[in-house]
Amino acid sequence: MITEHALATLELIRVADKAAVTLRTARKKWRDTANTADKAAADTARWRRLRTRAISVRLRDLCNLLIDDAEERHHRALAAEEKALAAHGRAWGKDLAASRAWRRAYSQASQTPDDPISEAARARATAALLGPLAAAPPEVMRSAHKIIIQSSGGKDSVVAMLRTMQWARDAGVTDKLIVVHSNLGDAEWPGVTDLVLRQAEMFGLDVRIVKPDGGFLGMVEARGMWPDSKRRLCTGTLKRDAITPLITEIVNDLGLPPGVQAIILNVFGIRAEESPARRLKEPLSIDPRASSTNRLVLTWNVIHELSERDVWKEIADNRLEYHQVYDSLLPRLSCVFCVLAGERWLIRAARVCFALGMDAPEVWTALEAKIEHSFKQKSSLASIIAEARRLDEEEGPLTWQRGDAIRHALGEASATDYLQSLDTAA
Ligand code: SF4
Repeated sequence: MITEHALATLELIRVADKAAVTLRTARKKWRDTANTADKAAADTARWRRLRTRAISVRLRDLCNLLIDDAEERHHRALAAEEKALAAHGRAWGKDLAASRAWRRAYSQASQTPDDPISEAARARATAALLGPLAAAPPEVMRSAHKIIIQSSGGKDSVVAMLRTMQWARDAGVTDKLIVVHSNLGDAEWPGVTDLVLRQAEMFGLDVRIVKPDGGFLGMVEARGMWPDSKRRLCTGTLKRDAITPLITEIVNDLGLPPGVQAIILNVFGIRAEESPARRLKEPLSIDPRASSTNRLVLTWNVIHELSERDVWKEIADNRLEYHQVYDSLLPRLSCVFCVLAGERWLIRAARVCFALGMDAPEVWTALEAKIEHSFKQKSSLASIIAEARRLDEEEGPLTWQRGDAIRHALGEASATDYLQSLDTAA
């Protein structure tokens, strides 16, 4: 009951956040239209003044034309200002109602917020409500209608799957779980989608595969440029946007009665240790883009506090299957060449491609030449591949053995145990 009240209050805060944004936009529009009207009025006055000093009929006629034009603009701007003012009034009313609603709900459960209109007060209340929910996984899972595990097939995803499954068993809600994988097409390492299917099967979970049109390489070709850390459209377009319609489908399939909002937990294997940006993420947060009146979507980073070593330990202890690319000591199972990866890892990825007989280096460099946009700001993919070839010639092809990822992270004994347990299971 406490969890349900917290979730209902979070929804009211989300609505208040949205109302505040609408009010800000309406206020800006009102100001802009008022400024346009003022400018047109000032123009009219200026041309009128000039007309009184006109020394020829031609100049007076010109002033008359300019006055007509400025008056017309003024007239239109006043009409737009009136509409914008009315919209602002409506937005203000909704903002006020939304602020009162979340204040009332929040006061019932905990304390009265100091200033329900302010964004900072809403953020404080959100954190105060989400903290206890994140600390009580089985409870929040019982209150959810569906729990979606987003899996890239990588090591973090499979440990997130394991942890979610363990909590779901404790809560008795394993039937709410579903795995979703966004297939990035030719950009993926071979066998990733099949691996996701096997990992999910191990836990007895259903999988939905989403295939964004054209995959990663199709998106790059259509845009004529590679994404980068500032314009990371790949994750937005290929993952978030591609999965949003599936969330809609999942919510529709729930068949909830009208007026009942679906609570969706969206599980990710993001860890704080991975980057400063990820460190700032909360374990549990509202996803305002995916949420709407009929669903409250919460992003749940279930392994946020785990270190890389912890992740490998979970994999080894629980005999989880991981992709062979990790055994080449590549740290991530991302796209074959990830726009965010450092040059050192891109060179290694190219050498792994050579070792596996993949044509990805040729395909990616051909695309780079076609769109005439360099893969990285400071280096082209062609130069990275050339360096990988040079190293291969100098040192010989890369080799690795099954279990090297665990050997590297946890030591020989753990790798031997892991491999023996796989042999026994096979
Ligand atoms: S792995 Fe890298 S390149 Fe691929 S979608 Fe993710 S961020 Fe973009």
